[in-house]
Amino acid sequence: MPRRAKIAVIGGGILGLAHAYTAARRGHSVTLFERGHAATGASIRNFGMIWPIGQPPGEMHQMALRSREIWTEVLSSARLSYLPTGSLHVAYHDDEAEVLREFAAIAPPAGYNCEWLDASGVLERSDAVQPRGLKGGVWSAAELTVDPRLVIRRLPSYLRELGVAVKSGSAVTRIDLPRVETGAESFEADLAVVCSGDDFETLFPGLFRASELTRCKLQMMRTAPQPGGWQLGPALAAGLTLRFYKAFQMCTTLGKLKERITLEKPEYEKYLIHVLVSQTADGAITLGDSHEYGAAVDIFDKAEIDELTMREAESFLRLPDFRVAERWHGVYSLHSAKPFFEAEPAPGVHIVTAPGGSGMTLSFGLAERTMNGLSL
Ligand SMILES: Cc1cc2nc3c(=O)[nH]c(=O)nc-3n(C[C@H](O)[C@H](O)[C@H](O)COP(=O)(O)OP(=O)(O)OC[C@H]3O[C@@H](n4cnc5c(N)ncnc54)[C@H](O)[C@@H]3O)c2cc1C
Repeated sequence: MPRRAKIAVIGGGILGLAHAYTAARRGHSVTLFERGHAATGASIRNFGMIWPIGQPPGEMHQMALRSREIWTEVLSSARLSYLPTGSLHVAYHDDEAEVLREFAAIAPPAGYNCEWLDASGVLERSDAVQPRGLKGGVWSAAELTVDPRLVIRRLPSYLRELGVAVKSGSAVTRIDLPRVETGAESFEADLAVVCSGDDFETLFPGLFRASELTRCKLQMMRTAPQPGGWQLGPALAAGLTLRFYKAFQMCTTLGKLKERITLEKPEYEKYLIHVLVSQTADGAITLGDSHEYGAAVDIFDKAEIDELTMREAESFLRLPDFRVAERWHGVYSLHSAKPFFEAEPAPGVHIVTAPGGSGMTLSFGLAERTMNGLSL
């Protein structure tokens, strides 16, 4: 293991992996430090949705599309599979259909490749959508589904092929360039990129404390692999999701939908529940999620959240087998006002973290942006 690199990357989640990849592809020597023996943070606990449709128009949407492009190159080179599933947002209420119709009218000129489909059009695209009461939906071709467990476990091996030195089981406890110290060893680097996820306490705690960053806990579920090789097709979202993704804030009709949900579904509002559906490489279905904000994360999961999530899922999803095989929660970091957080706490040290619920989507685009900004 070399003791010196041009760039030290701290964190083996998707942001750290993406930064190490980008730096290595540009010909720099890189050491990647991951505290755990394998990464167990947000990046391995998510839906694996590369989801440009969720990003607001302009810079963030462009970054998501660029990120998607790099994702496909990386996955192909790393011999990792992915599904170009696209996505469907489905509507069962008039107000949901109004928002989605409006989105389908105004989003394409803003660069979103999507269209409104009536109920039969949706059902032609997906066997997994519940036909009863279906009003239609928005189809978008841009979304990809990756299997986060495969990707986060295997990308480090691919990075090694590119010459990256990967140090797992190594928490970086101090950066004073050129020195980068773990609990047991000392390394040297010209630059450091810190992608420490929601760890605000180990490195630069004072800066994090002053930075308006917080944590969000999400509860998740997964079924066993669906029988007979059943395929989900497009990843799915429904009416509750329209409240969350910034892209839909373009729609003037969104306010009415939000008001109805607040009145009709206070229990969903309490834990900010909506339902996304994706499929992993082995055929299992991932379902979630909820949003509980705050620096202190409740380690105990709430059965009520899982029940509400499943009830909502059953309202629009048809699955051969709904039985839950796994439950877990994930935590991501987010900033109160910015789509991600950057800081330079010391010359040559760059913190890049807190892409909120869009870190898988933005990762490679964000890494390219960081690397373009470094003086190398
Ligand atoms: C349940 C859930 C579902 C989600 N679904 C999606 C989705 O489908 N699509 C999407 O785009 N986004 C999704 N997100 C958001 C996305 O997962 C995150 O934004 C993203 O994973 C954050 O990546 P990260 O690398 O910053 O953090 P993490 O994945 O948390 O990685 C940080 C890593 O840094 C390591 N680390 C921290 N400090 C140190 C140190 N001092 N030394 C060494 N190592 C250190 C940690 O051990 C950890 O492995 C979801 C998030 C959750 C929780």
